[in-house]
Amino acid sequence: MRIILVGPPGAGKGTQAARLVERLGIPHISTGDMLRAAVKAGTELGKKADGYMKAGDLVPDAVVIGMAVERIGEPDAQKGFMLDGFPRTRPQAEALDAALSAAGVQLDAVVLIEVDDSLIVERITGRRTDPETKRIYHMTFDPPPAEVAGRLVQRKDDTEEACRARLKKYHGETAPIIPFYEDKGLLRRVDGVGSPDAVTARLTAALGG
Ligand code: ADP
Ligand code: ADP
Repeated sequence: MRIILVGPPGAGKGTQAARLVERLGIPHISTGDMLRAAVKAGTELGKKADGYMKAGDLVPDAVVIGMAVERIGEPDAQKGFMLDGFPRTRPQAEALDAALSAAGVQLDAVVLIEVDDSLIVERITGRRTDPETKRIYHMTFDPPPAEVAGRLVQRKDDTEEACRARLKKYHGETAPIIPFYEDKGLLRRVDGVGSPDAVTARLTAALGG
């Protein structure tokens, strides 16, 4: 299956993708994770992306599109993929469309995980990640076990200020991709509020069980 997960920062895209890809046997492709890895490795691409990411701005399309299109061309993505955090602008959606058409393949679904803005800041500021397993936790909603708590890290852009900037970008630049996919008949809306298990059940149903 070729699936896109869309939603505001903190909607639960990463949490849900990790749960679903195992069952579906497809790679989880997160442009945020790819960009953070590039920043950590100090590559040219990482150097270009770093400042935008820290400020909660979008990395320019010219940087992200090539990276994402190259990734979905890799062998493990030929049987399908779950894209998380890409596309995030209308030009990115159009570039993805062109790349998939050129490869002669089609998307199966674009799932929008809906969470109201009023819940987002708390989700983002409480987020922590285990650098060893990559498991995402939340200090209140999904607290870590004592043995991993000491090694958890917080993303640099998970401050309240950067979160508000990201929400603004989401509404201004990412939301316009929703009608783009709605017009193609691919959009499925899923309520992202409730326990992670409840959201997984809704996503599974939206993807046809
Ligand atoms: P979130 O968990 O908030 O949805 P991500 O991990 O997907 O965030 O992305 C973190 C940051 O990486 C974004 O705020 C942005 O700076 C950059 N980024 C990730 N994907 C894209 C993209 N498709 N286009 C532009 N910037 C991106
Ligand atoms: P995204 O990838 O969309 O930015 P994440 O999956 O990283 O979102 O989730 C953001 C934060 O919210 C994390 O700390 C995660 O543990 C928490 N979270 C995820 N799903 C839920 C949920 N259904 N209810 C409460 N908190 C959640």
